Amino acid sequence: MSRKNSPEIEAILFDLDGVLYIGNNAIAGAAKTVNTLQQSGYRIAGITNTTTQPRRIIADKLAGMEISIPASAIYTPAALANRVIGDKKAALFVRDSLQEEFEGIQQNPTRPDYIVMGDIGGEGYPPETLRTIFGMVMEGAQVLALHKNRFWQKPDGLHLDLGVFVAAIEYATGKDAVVLGKPATEFFHGICRELHVKPEHTLMIGDDIESDIGGARRAGLRTVLVQTGKHREAFVKQTGIRADIVIPSVADLTDALSLL
Ligand SMILES: [Mg+2]
Repeated sequence: MSRKNSPEIEAILFDLDGVLYIGNNAIAGAAKTVNTLQQSGYRIAGITNTTTQPRRIIADKLAGMEISIPASAIYTPAALANRVIGDKKAALFVRDSLQEEFEGIQQNPTRPDYIVMGDIGGEGYPPETLRTIFGMVMEGAQVLALHKNRFWQKPDGLHLDLGVFVAAIEYATGKDAVVLGKPATEFFHGICRELHVKPEHTLMIGDDIESDIGGARRAGLRTVLVQTGKHREAFVKQTGIRADIVIPSVADLTDALSLL
């Protein structure tokens, strides 16, 4: 294919799980697609809501599948939080495995400018930790939430997820958290700024109709829904959200680009 087919698209953002791989298995044709598009001159980035793995590990996993997206081109809520914090002070509530994403950040566990709320393991945030965060927000700190999911599935059933604890702080303080990650508009716009590309010249490839496609559309990006991963036809219809193009899998992307 040639770039002339879709001159308006300059950057392509790939959701990872469900689009390029499922668990530890690459989707057939994913490496060929990404590498072909890279060679055609598109700026390529990975965009994922994972809050348990640093970008270095994700890039290694992709490299093992012969998909070359470097850590610097992978966007996660933690990486965005790092950039938002900049040279301000932060209190971090994240897993140990994620600490390396905050290297260089000035940590201040008592009087921070920002509080990063992520997954901390166990059954979530104990009351005393919530009280600590509550106090810091009342003193003027801003909560950055790595996501705001309500619950998650474990082998023994449903468990409360991070969003419950973020909502508790919001309710108590009357101050909204800044939610990073998809589907937040600012997440998509932040990535576009870093790639020096306008949202309307950016294409989002995803398997999640709400988080990937809905979020990207609201942010003004073009969208492609793949029918792999968590894609379920009935659920897609029910949401009323429509992607610009729907394709069976990422392997069909290079051909589909000419339709845009
Ligand atoms: Mg996905």
